[in-house]
Amino acid sequence: MKDVIIIGAGIAGLTAGFELAKNSFDFHILDTSNRAGGVIETIKTGDYLIECGPHAFSSLSYETLELIKELNLEDDLIQASPDARKRYVHNNGHLYPVPSNPKEFFKTGIISKEAKFTLFEEFFIAKDENDESVEEFISRRFGREVLKNIVQPYLNGVFAGDVKTLSAKAVFPKLKNLENKYKSILLGFILSRGLKPSFKRITLHSFREGLEQLPKGLYEKLKTRITLNSSNIEITRAKDFFMVSFKLNNKTINYTTNSILFAIPAYKVLDYGHLFPSERVTEIFHTEYAPIASVSQSVDKGKINTELDGFGFLCVKEPQRKLLGTIWTSSVFPDRVPKDKVLLTSYIGGSLYKKIVTHTEEEIKNIVTKEVCEILKISNQSFLETINIKLYPHAIPQYNMEHISRVKNIEEFMDKDYGLFVTGNYLYGISINDTVKTSKKIAERIKTFLRNTDTKKEELAAT
Ligand SMILES: Cc1cc2nc3c(=O)[nH]c(=O)nc-3n(C[C@H](O)[C@H](O)[C@H](O)COP(=O)(O)OP(=O)(O)OC[C@H]3O[C@@H](n4cnc5c(N)ncnc54)[C@H](O)[C@@H]3O)c2cc1C
Repeated sequence: MKDVIIIGAGIAGLTAGFELAKNSFDFHILDTSNRAGGVIETIKTGDYLIECGPHAFSSLSYETLELIKELNLEDDLIQASPDARKRYVHNNGHLYPVPSNPKEFFKTGIISKEAKFTLFEEFFIAKDENDESVEEFISRRFGREVLKNIVQPYLNGVFAGDVKTLSAKAVFPKLKNLENKYKSILLGFILSRGLKPSFKRITLHSFREGLEQLPKGLYEKLKTRITLNSSNIEITRAKDFFMVSFKLNNKTINYTTNSILFAIPAYKVLDYGHLFPSERVTEIFHTEYAPIASVSQSVDKGKINTELDGFGFLCVKEPQRKLLGTIWTSSVFPDRVPKDKVLLTSYIGGSLYKKIVTHTEEEIKNIVTKEVCEILKISNQSFLETINIKLYPHAIPQYNMEHISRVKNIEEFMDKDYGLFVTGNYLYGISINDTVKTSKKIAERIKTFLRNTDTKKEELAAT
């Protein structure tokens, strides 16, 4: 009898497995794909190193760094070029640098003078402890220009989401807390950080061979306990254990196990809804996902008429605009492209353009090429060479108004000792850092459950 069967070998499932291995628990990981790592995928094409999905760690969390050290990958860590700290927002034909301190904020053209002056009214706006949409929260406290020209583009980059449906408490918990504690977010900033607040600098990290080095490192350590290409995974509950069967090369393999950890997206957990005791299982796991297509393109350095002195740009939502934003990959990680080329990675889709899933690769390429050439002032669309396109129909879970109560419900059933656990980016944050942290936390819960199960069995045997 296994201790745990883990379904899914993305970063969530691999991290959980690695944690369980430390205490010699007996587990096995099943994945339907032919590779481990899930959406973290790096490919080498000619002289280019391309990230298909995620691009970088936004600073390294304690948990991720610990994992990297345990895998001896520390020497392969690389930092983005210091220029990448500069970010731009595109609006109405202009690229505006995102201010990195209050002084720059008062100079920026991202929002109008009037909008900057009305910011001071924020000190006097009554607090509202209830949850509300990001749109309601930001426009109530800072006005609609800040919402449209700063917050929506920022959320394009993080959630590919819609401010109308994202929950303020789930997406901006720190800002909501400052509002509740100090009655004003600006006052809260000043009082909690001193009179010269500067905006937090993020340092991007990756590995020499790209982000996939992390799941590859985990796979190398765990590979004897991972079955890729497994199909028809079926799970049934026996009295106090589970029976798992799956097919590998047309052969059926069976396991029995004390517990199951689902490390797959929430909507896929619903395929196993019959295992969950709650009638509300559909409601609990029904999470909206935003689609994203990621498009990598190159252009000769001489043919681009914009200085790419930063991370890239995010787009304000304009009627004709389908692009979410573009990373100037060759400015962030210069060693990944030939010296005479510029590499751009654009993202398109999101909650505001779900239609992306109906487009062919050719259509996606055409839209991105047109918009990137317009924004970066590339005179001829034929100058852009498309190297890779990857469409993720379910890319990013949306932390909408139900998010906080959904996570609470999930925690409650995990507490009930059914032997069913879940992990992934739809719980406590969507970044790789967050997913690693979540999986470490869930692995601790599983260990406690297994130790308690052993104790109960010993007590039963003794009577
Ligand atoms: C386009 C894109 C860009 C991103 N950019 C960044 C970034 O720059 N920085 C950052 O920190 N984060 C970024 N993220 C977020 C981050 O990459 C993810 O949150 C994280 O990698 C999710 O890991 P996971 O293991 O939970 O899920 P996944 O990576 O989706 O892994 C799930 C695994 O489960 C397997 N699976 C699915 N269904 C089944 C089934 N029924 N049975 C068995 N196996 C199954 C899949 O094959 C896969 O291996 C980005 C995400 C996307 C999509």
